[in-house]
Amino acid sequence: MDKLYYCNECKRVISNGESCSYCSSSYIDELAVGAPVNVIGTKLKGKVLKIKDNTARLLIRDESNSKFIREYNGEKLRKIL
Ligand SMILES: [Zn+2]
Repeated sequence: MDKLYYCNECKRVISNGESCSYCSSSYIDELAVGAPVNVIGTKLKGKVLKIKDNTARLLIRDESNSKFIREYNGEKLRKIL
């Protein structure tokens, strides 16, 4: 699967486009390249560069404003506005 989705209710990133694994909502959209996300449990925010095998490659900008690229499983991510 080279696509990830996110839940519009709880904002978690999920791997299926049918219903949310966390809150059961069916209000789901595809996570697009360029979408901003937060790494759950951290203050890291990044933008999606690429999605492959349920993993998103993110361009992250940390609190000191330096940029780096890192990959996270979709389960670790939350969509932000
Ligand atoms: Zn949800």
